[in-house]
Formats: sequence, C-alpha cells, structure tokens
Amino acid sequence: MQPTHRLMIGNYVGALRQWVQLQEEYDCLFAIVDLHALTVPQDPAKLRQRTLEVAALYLAAGIDPEKSIIFVQSHVPAHTQLTWVLSCFTYMGECSRMTQFKEKSAKQKNINVGLFTYPILMAADILLYQADLVPVGADQKQHLELTRNLAQRFNHYYPNTFTVPEPYIPPIGAKIMSLQNPQKKMSKSDPEEKATLFLTDPPDVIRSKIRRAVTDSERTIAYDPEKRPGISNLITLYHVATGKPIETIVAEFEGKGYKEFKEALAEALIEMLRPLQQRFHELMAEKTELKNILRKGAEAAGQRAHRTLRKVYKKVGLLLPDT
Ligand code: AMP
Repeated sequence: MQPTHRLMIGNYVGALRQWVQLQEEYDCLFAIVDLHALTVPQDPAKLRQRTLEVAALYLAAGIDPEKSIIFVQSHVPAHTQLTWVLSCFTYMGECSRMTQFKEKSAKQKNINVGLFTYPILMAADILLYQADLVPVGADQKQHLELTRNLAQRFNHYYPNTFTVPEPYIPPIGAKIMSLQNPQKKMSKSDPEEKATLFLTDPPDVIRSKIRRAVTDSERTIAYDPEKRPGISNLITLYHVATGKPIETIVAEFEGKGYKEFKEALAEALIEMLRPLQQRFHELMAEKTELKNILRKGAEAAGQRAHRTLRKVYKKVGLLLPDT
C-alpha cells in the first residue's frame, strides 16, 4: 500500500486482514510503496511519518516479520533499477492505455512522467521477486496484466528470466462503504473526515463518526444493501467487528432502534481495534524496533531482488562490475 494517507477500516477488511491469513500458507513479501506515492505532490515530513505508520499498522494487524518480509520500497534500489530496463521494453501506447492513468491525468494538473510510468515500477515490484501470485483488487487488474505482458515479452527475448505472475483474487470480502455516502466506497483519501473510519481513530472519534453515520428514515435494523445501503453498511461493520453472521445481528437488534445499534457498533469497533491500536502506539513510541524490522526486511528483500536484477543486467548485455 502507498503511505499517502492513514489506513482505514476498508483497507483492513479488504487487504490487511487477508494478508495476515496468506502468510500462513505462502512465502509473502509486503511493501510500503513510498516511491509510488511521489507520483502526486507530497509533504516530505508527512510522507516519512506515514511510511512508518503504515509499517507499524501492517505489524499491528498481524503481519509477522518472522513469517513474511516487510519492507519499504525505496530501501531496495533494485526496484528503480529494474524499472529502467523494463521501461525500455514497454511501448508508450501500453502506458497511455492504462485506465488509472487516464482517470488521474484527467483530474490533475500535474501530469508527470512518473504518473505515466507508474505501472512499470509496479511491474518491477512484482517481477523482482519472481512472484507467483499477486493479491490485487479490481482497480489493479489492468496493471497486473501489463506486468504479465512485460514478463512474457522479456522472456521471449531472454528465456527463463521472469516468473509470469497470476492475480490472486481473494475470497469475496466485505466492501466497506463511506459513512456519509453509503453509495460510495469508503476511501482513505475522502476529503470528508467523518466519512472514513481510520484504524488509528481514538474511541471518542469512532463513537462520534458512527453516531453521525448516514442511515435512512426507516427504523428497523435490516440488511438490504440495494435499498438501504447506510444501515446495511453498518451491519457489515458490526459483522467485521464481532465475526457474527449478518442474520444473527439482524435478529439480535430486532425491535431496537438505530441509536442503540450504533452505540453497540461503536463499542464493538473500539474493542476490535484496541489491541491493534495498542501495538501501533507501542511501535510508534519507540521506533528502534520498527526500524530494525524494516532494515532486516529490506536486507532480505534486497538479496532476492538483487539476484533477479543481476540476471536481467547480464541478459541484456550490461557489464557486471565484478565479472
Ligand atoms: P487503497 O486504499 O485504494 O490504496 O486500497 C488498498 C487496499 O485496500 C486494496 O487492496 C483495496 O482492495 C482495499 N480497500 C480499499 N478500500 C476498500 C473498501 N472501502 N472496502 C474494502 N476494501 C477496500
């Protein structure tokens, strides 16, 4: 994930929580992709702070540095080095066809080359590690397709260089909607603060955001995402926080009002986040442990990345300094 904003409950449900499961079955690498964040203007001090915060949240959510590699992208220079070589194998048309580039460049004045070549850096992130699987959401599918094309193209010229990665589509998880506009996905960059529940929101803020969450003019606690998206989203959140099935929740709150349900939901979310927040604050209070984990992660990732980079440099005809 990019360290551009604070992580929120949707990131936890849609990504982090699943990653924690994946590390039990797979050899996983988790990066905080700070170089990608530079494609839009950033406040330098904030970017540095968020990078540590996202790392601390990965760990607090249960990413285990004994089982997985967790690292900051810019700590492994091979990412930018491979990007250059891959750029020389990417057609301009391929990058300009990317939906995300088209959308972002239509919205923003600063259309820099980094925004254009972003998918090539993403391809390097993946191919450096000979990844078999990449967990991606729908918005990243096209970028992964480009990664696959680049790997295949490169392998065509230089056989057996890259593993061609497959998308890993996680079991359909809950999609969390905005607390203020339940027709829209919750987003960590929503300008309206109270629409988003951040993982680090203190209990009082959680209570206030849930209290003010948009519902509807009906009175029953019923699950119907089409007709009653607001209350249904809150029921989903209650399910996320307690693990109880939706039907059980609906039965539990039969005959009760929104106020009571919202109070119970806020407390359940506070309870769910309590251990995560505690660990997060420990890691952020004394950063030596966090920085050590990231240093070790970068070393481990760097070794693997360097092997691939050497192979690529050699194949394309660059003179290796030690040969
Ligand atoms: P983003 O915040 O868009 O960078 O997304 C990071 C990860 O969080 C992606 O894997 C998304 O699938 C997941 N994610 C983002 N927003 C939501 C949401 N509202 N509900 C569920 N998952 C989400």
